[in-house]
Amino acid sequence: MDRRDNYSPETLAVRAGQERSQFGEHSEALYLTSSFVFSSAAQAAARFSGEEEGNVYSRFTNPTVSVFQERLAALEGTEACIATGSGMSAILSLIMALCSSGDHVVASTGLFGATQQLLGTIMPRFGVTTSFVAQTDVGAWQAAIRPETRLLFLETPSNPLTEIADIAALADVAHVRGALLVVDNCFCTPILQRPLDLGADLVVHSATKFLDGQGRVLGGAVAGRRQLTDEVFKFLRTAGPALSPFNAWVLLKGLETLKIRLDAQSAKALELASWLEAHPKVARVYYPGLASHPQFELARRQQKSGGAIVSFVVNGGRAEAWKIVDSCRLLSITANLGDTRTTLTHPASTTHGRITPEQRSAAGIGENLLRIAVGLEAVEDLENDLDAGLSLI
Ligand SMILES: *Cc1c(COP(=O)(O)O)cnc(C)c1O
Repeated sequence: MDRRDNYSPETLAVRAGQERSQFGEHSEALYLTSSFVFSSAAQAAARFSGEEEGNVYSRFTNPTVSVFQERLAALEGTEACIATGSGMSAILSLIMALCSSGDHVVASTGLFGATQQLLGTIMPRFGVTTSFVAQTDVGAWQAAIRPETRLLFLETPSNPLTEIADIAALADVAHVRGALLVVDNCFCTPILQRPLDLGADLVVHSATKFLDGQGRVLGGAVAGRRQLTDEVFKFLRTAGPALSPFNAWVLLKGLETLKIRLDAQSAKALELASWLEAHPKVARVYYPGLASHPQFELARRQQKSGGAIVSFVVNGGRAEAWKIVDSCRLLSITANLGDTRTTLTHPASTTHGRITPEQRSAAGIGENLLRIAVGLEAVEDLENDLDAGLSLI
């Protein structure tokens, strides 16, 4: 299909990027092959040099992976996308492609734990340092920028407190100083938020979460203008953090239902968040779709809905929070999110368990905080499951 036709997201999600083979298959073909053959020595040479377009070797070219890349680029409203084997390898590839020793990054303190580790402890060994600033404080981002700052890196809404970063404002802050703004769009996906339309330069994804949506495979991606993604491609081609064609095929099936899932999961999350907010055993709810969220207006401008992640604080401490987790019979106790099955996490002892108690309290992650990634079950069943635990505290 032709991108110039200006199709809606739900149309792009099922059709963008597909090219049929000589067999005319209706569903996307899975090309489970490591390499490709050439018709002559001259063609092999032309393919390797890039003179002739076409597939060479699945570390960097595979038709099934290409369909996924095209489709995600179309959904993000941009030129190009490079797929990788996981969300973390997308982030690593982006940093390795765009930063050199001596460069500096400004990043949010609310980033995904592994991204914080990568920027805070691994990259400094290679001369790339990071200053961490508060997600919501535009002035702090501005003040942290240095002449050698190459990237501003954020994720919005943040995990688990759903703090919203002002993408348009931070894009301006970055561009005035010659830096690039990178947004991890994992929580919203292009269905709810298109950071590139708001001025960001690159989007990264953990496709493992909502893009797959059914908890099956790992995958990642970097999307943006070709001039930037070409640099990521050069790193991928040499270093090899490639997406498997099988996983790309599974992710294509996931993208087909992305819009209906995100719309349904967000609606259920709003209903559940409102119920939690009215519950006498719940002290506070963090959800960008509630009027009580400190950045409700910004979220409304920037996102199509509040998304599917809800966090809440229960009366009491760790014992009370764990009581709720342990009495659940329906919600899955796991740190994963973006699944059709609702998941429940106690961040202080799992996803944020490796940081110090001081860092945790600075980040606002108390022992009495729980995070829910809302799936597709009936809200009433989720409420009954949570109420069983809440009534015990
Ligand atoms: C899970 C996650 C990642 C890492 O993705 P993997 O696919 O697990 O490597 C990065 N960013 C965010 C926001 C995530 O939730």
